[in-house]
Amino acid sequence: MSAVIISGKELATEKRTFIKEQVTKLRQFDAVQPTLAVVLVGDDPASHSYVKAKKKACEEAGINCLLEHYPSTLTQEELLSRIDYFNRNEEIHGILVQLPLPKHIHENSIIEAISPEKDVDGFHPINIGKMMINQDSFIPCTPYGILEMIRSLNVSITGKHVIVVGRSNIVGKPVGQLFLKEDATITYCHSKTKNLSDITRQADILIVAVGRANLISSSYVKEGAIVIDVGVNRLESGKLCGDVQFDSVKEKASYITPVPGGVGPMTITMLLQNTLQSAQKKASQNKTNIL
Ligand code: NDP
Repeated sequence: MSAVIISGKELATEKRTFIKEQVTKLRQFDAVQPTLAVVLVGDDPASHSYVKAKKKACEEAGINCLLEHYPSTLTQEELLSRIDYFNRNEEIHGILVQLPLPKHIHENSIIEAISPEKDVDGFHPINIGKMMINQDSFIPCTPYGILEMIRSLNVSITGKHVIVVGRSNIVGKPVGQLFLKEDATITYCHSKTKNLSDITRQADILIVAVGRANLISSSYVKEGAIVIDVGVNRLESGKLCGDVQFDSVKEKASYITPVPGGVGPMTITMLLQNTLQSAQKKASQNKTNIL
């Protein structure tokens, strides 16, 4: 059996077309221009390319992207002051500070300074907490994109055993919570997990978010499993690859995501979706205020 390849790129294109239509409607009927403020600090090449891709995607969807780029000498106070400005600016619906930040800036303080109502990355503890207790919140973009990819397959999630390898605050932990909400049974694995392959072989849906090239070989995967590869690793050759050995695992899985062209494009798409959601909320508040 050879797996069906889940094209995040195609699904992202489809969703971005819909988002663009919604953005146009907001502009035309509600006079609201969805706007995302993006702050980039320093010269990390990967961060530069992520920010560039986010800006391009915003522009294609008709979302205004205000990009501010600062040198790595920016102080924490200066960054907090920009965030405060964005929080108070009614024309800005989403704020994104590209991570990682230089070491002298305390990342958690920055995440917590962003207004939860504009936290389109979904990293603020209030949004994370709300997600845990099934309240309306911004959902972190990568986990949200993964859920949308699985939904697009029209397979039932209820009762499925979802195994997540990786427990970061931005991918591993929240993606498990999202699938728990969908009535799946969740197992988390991490660097201290013993006999990893014995566990991962039990997964109906295996989500790998580690950042180690080719960690998962076909012996880690159950026949017919759905495999989502979040990892992005650059090989010495310069080529990008995931955490999953794509060629061998695709012979065993029922569905698999490629790297690149899998989770990545969906992450950016859900950022657009969250920004749209925030602008739509603002438009409905405007209407309520008029009445
Ligand atoms: P982190 O480094 O924050 O977390 C990695 C996790 O993997 C940790 O929980 C760690 O365990 C676990 N881990 C490390 N080694 C092993 C191992 N040998 N076996 C099992 N678990 C292990 O990474 P992120 O979650 O931020 O990102 C993970 C990957 O996903 C990266 O490659 C990143 O580039 C990519 N990524 C891709 C995105 C996309 O849109 N495509 C978006 C975000 C991330 P422990 O907690 O014990 O240390």
